[in-house]
Amino acid sequence: MDLASGCLAKVEALLRWQHPQRGVLGPRAFISIAETSGLSTEISACVLRSAAEQLCDWRRRKAPRLQMSINRSPLQSSNARAAVNDWREHLRSIDLLRGALVVELTEGQLLEPSERVGRHLHALRAIGVGVSLDDFGTGFSSLAGLQQYQIDFIKIDPSFVRDLGQDDKSLTLCKAIIGMAHELGMEVIAEGVETVRQRDLLLTAGCDHAQGYFYAPPLSAAEMERWLGAHC
Ligand code: MN
Repeated sequence: MDLASGCLAKVEALLRWQHPQRGVLGPRAFISIAETSGLSTEISACVLRSAAEQLCDWRRRKAPRLQMSINRSPLQSSNARAAVNDWREHLRSIDLLRGALVVELTEGQLLEPSERVGRHLHALRAIGVGVSLDDFGTGFSSLAGLQQYQIDFIKIDPSFVRDLGQDDKSLTLCKAIIGMAHELGMEVIAEGVETVRQRDLLLTAGCDHAQGYFYAPPLSAAEMERWLGAHC
């Protein structure tokens, strides 16, 4: 949600596996298996395809300025250059508006400081895909990544948001992250917002966006569609 306006601005695509015996599984249950069994590239491509198509549809019918972020990127592919080219072709083919799609990277993906990563991020930006740093503040390379790469959004990890209102340190850290991000020309999204108090403190601290159970639990596309019509 856009904190200043209270309107829905972005959605985050989350991956689930409808397992025939075990029910709905979250990515923690299968992504590491997918990565070691070589399915990572295909999963990333599938996520991109379905997210981009869904976003196009919603922008056309429901919310013309909606943005969507996805937690997979071509950087996770064994052949990142080919994957970036695939993304470019796909986005071109569905004529998605520039700036509508954002990839969320973890600090771990930026750990290996290399020209290669910089080139791929640059290529993503060149096709109009924004770059967001997920779970900010919990990894090892936060500031180095910010210095080295062009990042559009920082997502404050829920561990800093959880104790807002009870622990002064959390508020100080959130304010510091927000101030730093704004100075660097980035926007900030707070993750894991669950209470009105957390929301209000973040708004007062100048945070741009917030997500979490305070607004909604993860929703299916059909549930989201009803939600879209009701929130600006
Ligand atoms: Mn994420």
